[in-house]
Amino acid sequence: MTGTPTKSVKDWQAEKAANGFARLDAEAFPIFEEGWVWLVGAGPGAPGLMSLLAYHAMQHCDVVVYDALVNPDILGWVRVGAELEYAGKRGGKPSPTQKDISIRLIELAKSGKRVLRLKGGDPFMFGRGGEESQTLAKAGVPFRIVPGITSGVGGLAYAGIPATHRDTNHAVIFLTGHDASGNMPANVNWQAIATAAPVLVMYMAVKHLGEIAATLMAAGRTADDPVAIVSNASLPQQQVAMTNLKEAGQFVLANSPPTPAIVVVGHASDWRSLLDWYGPALRENKIG
Ligand code: SAH
Repeated sequence: MTGTPTKSVKDWQAEKAANGFARLDAEAFPIFEEGWVWLVGAGPGAPGLMSLLAYHAMQHCDVVVYDALVNPDILGWVRVGAELEYAGKRGGKPSPTQKDISIRLIELAKSGKRVLRLKGGDPFMFGRGGEESQTLAKAGVPFRIVPGITSGVGGLAYAGIPATHRDTNHAVIFLTGHDASGNMPANVNWQAIATAAPVLVMYMAVKHLGEIAATLMAAGRTADDPVAIVSNASLPQQQVAMTNLKEAGQFVLANSPPTPAIVVVGHASDWRSLLDWYGPALRENKIG
């Protein structure tokens, strides 16, 4: 670009080294100390979407306690010698309760282990990371939070859906379609949500989509508002289905879109016709 000042990387590094920040492989990452829990977001699925701190934690932990939504391919990058503990639902057995998981994390940390608590997406976005860290704090267990790319932003990017765009929406609402009791959440203000933002990004919303769509329409949301259902975002098996608010409930019943899925209501998905970049050739690479 004309007018853009350029500099060689060599000069840049020399300058940064003088200020105490050089190359990645020369930097001292935070020490993962014994008895600590690192609550880490693994991103929506594609291994390459993990952060450097997440990768660093994998190389220095003693045990990984991971959830169902963590891509198992990522676990192959954990240092040899560490242990893997699954904390999700398995083989029809009920999943461990949040309390069981928190107790386990405390137990592992108090036995002097470096505990990597690995969660899908971002630990603080509908991931119960808030609850888990609260319990750790109360038990006096030191912890660090490593944010991750949330499926409701980074996952959508893989479907060519920008969460915001100056031509469609200056605001976006993130919400869950599912409360702790497994129902459509009653304690959200659906009336306000229906009209407050042009784009709604809904987690865990497939099961109750018909009910949610009916509630949004009753609250004044237009029936022909586009609805995109993005399944397995950022993974080679990603699928995107398009419907509209009026037909969404029926669509889900008839087509059972695979989960996990993010549901996007509003015109953000209009950009897909041009921005749908994650094609078959790119999917051959499993890192991202
Ligand atoms: N903490 C996670 C969300 C956990 S709640 C995050 O930040 O992404 C679980 C919900 O996340 C799923 O029901 C689904 O709505 C969404 N989700 C997680 N991974 C997904 C993926 N790869 N594709 C689509 N939706 C995903």
